[in-house]
Amino acid sequence: MRQSEPLFRDTLFRGKRKRGGYQVVDPPQPALEALVADTHAHLEMLADVPLALARCAAHGLGFLCCVVDVCEGDLVVYDRAEAWRTEAQGLLGEILGDRGPCHTGPYNVSQEGDKGTGRLSHFDTFGDKYVFQNVTNAPSPCHPPIPSIRVAAGCHPHHARHYSKDAQARLLDCASNHLTCAIGEVGLDFHYDFSPREAQREAFRRQVGVAHATGLPLILHLREAHEEALAIMDEEGFPEAGTLLHCFNLGADVLAPWVERGCYIAFGGPLTFKKSDDVRSAALQVPRNRIVTETDAPYMTPEPMRGMECSPEHTIFTAERLAAVFSCEPGEDRRQFLAEVYQNALDLLDREPTAWQGKTQGKAPGAVPDGTPGAAAGTGCDRGPYNLSQCDKLYGPLSHPVPKGEEGHGD
Ligand SMILES: [Zn+2]
Ligand SMILES: [Zn+2]
Repeated sequence: MRQSEPLFRDTLFRGKRKRGGYQVVDPPQPALEALVADTHAHLEMLADVPLALARCAAHGLGFLCCVVDVCEGDLVVYDRAEAWRTEAQGLLGEILGDRGPCHTGPYNVSQEGDKGTGRLSHFDTFGDKYVFQNVTNAPSPCHPPIPSIRVAAGCHPHHARHYSKDAQARLLDCASNHLTCAIGEVGLDFHYDFSPREAQREAFRRQVGVAHATGLPLILHLREAHEEALAIMDEEGFPEAGTLLHCFNLGADVLAPWVERGCYIAFGGPLTFKKSDDVRSAALQVPRNRIVTETDAPYMTPEPMRGMECSPEHTIFTAERLAAVFSCEPGEDRRQFLAEVYQNALDLLDREPTAWQGKTQGKAPGAVPDGTPGAAAGTGCDRGPYNLSQCDKLYGPLSHPVPKGEEGHGD
């Protein structure tokens, strides 16, 4: 929990004024035509999760992947996700400023009419996709759905020195929970080097093994280590369920081999930064069926919200920019693009339980099997039917964990 700014219980976006105080920032106008997904948010680090979720609903964020760290962070999301969503549902009427009956059906900030007041306009369902209608003064306002929440669990490279056998057991316990949709964020961070590089490599390889064993996709955090990480992934094998390169903030040259290998690429705040022309041109080389949006909240706030703590609903600013990069004009063109990007996130992360998850359901913590023969035959550290104990043979036993430090997440 952190709280660096006051909490406003409404739907407005606010930026900091140079001389103190806040000013209202306009959301994308015209309003986005489709729902967006935040594929990477550290929910438990937000000051008020239900309020953030209610704001997400109000601004058309339909899906959220919460990233938790088995070596450092709190794993409360597993117990609290549904309670947070219920509380958010209760808050929604309050922040929308209406007393209307509570139906399902999304909203978005109106283009005109109620601009600046935070009132939202009605929008309707069209086929099975939500379409924003920009109707002001809707006679009977309905409430948009609270985003669904899935979880990615892993040991961040910053905490790799804590990746012990116990940590791996915790990770497997998390993975067996059907809320879990991915192993991550894992990888290498040679910018901060908060953990020794050897420990980072080891934790990374082992967790790629966990992704193979559990049949889950992998979410990668890489900083100043793309080349080495690529070599490791080529050795360990890319999980069949998919690999997502998160927070991409570099140029086309660095991105190319990851695109070649069929990875999903997530764009967040850096796509919107003024000096990020290289990131925007790199984005154009990603096939449309491999692009997703994210925030990395509470980090990496996108323009025009920089200076404020990032929250998942800020995804709409990144999504707006991404559509512009792809020259998709507001209207049907942009609706199609955004719907495709949203569907990519659902395809990768809003998945049915894997075969491994099916087998581990209801098992007591600690009793989770450490591998599933055939779950990812032919890939991974033993190049055969996957069994995590094989990783010990290959890499040796996990090094002893060292006492926890106070290092920050730093991304
Ligand atoms: Zn990261
Ligand atoms: Zn992160």
